[in-house]
Amino acid sequence: MRIGILALQGAFAEHAEMLGSFGVRAGLVRTPAQLEGLDGLILPGGESTSMRRLAGQFGLDAALRDFGATRPVWGVCAGLILVAARVDGEEPFLGLMDMGVARNAYGRQQESFVSGLSFADLPDSRPYPGVFIRAPRVLETGPGVTVLARQGEAPVALRQGHLMATAFHPELTADGRVHGYFLELCADQAKRVAAG
Ligand code: GLN
Repeated sequence: MRIGILALQGAFAEHAEMLGSFGVRAGLVRTPAQLEGLDGLILPGGESTSMRRLAGQFGLDAALRDFGATRPVWGVCAGLILVAARVDGEEPFLGLMDMGVARNAYGRQQESFVSGLSFADLPDSRPYPGVFIRAPRVLETGPGVTVLARQGEAPVALRQGHLMATAFHPELTADGRVHGYFLELCADQAKRVAAG
């Protein structure tokens, strides 16, 4: 399997390292051509305003939208904002997932926290350590979106077919279960596409 990580800004190296622990060599994506042949793409955490500006400058916006129409994308934190169809107070960017989000809704950097999450469909039921850093809050979701984990009332891990988003940062933990979940999603989608 070939998984790409958008590498314009933010926590892309940490995802590459985590994928490496599964024996998957990640491709860093900075140009539309680097999306070719990928079975999935991670949009990492960082700063969504900078990331969308850079994506525009690198000519990636249409290419990312096309990629996500049929191929797996996982948006993490800032990446969740990039995939959302509705963003409070600003234009959405990729508009791939049917949900509305508010940026920085949990407060400042110092208000970052770790929360034990109950995450549906992981291989075991141990709580998942959710690391939240200036996380976006998901305000509402459309009917095609399944909530995989909540923190309090708010959805913090979501899936819509071949698309996935987390408001927290699995790449900043030693727990690879969410990356494993995404790799499985990518393998399933590759099979589905091959079967036509
Ligand atoms: N606050 C950032 C944003 O709005 C996201 C934070 C993160 O990715 N850790 O883009």
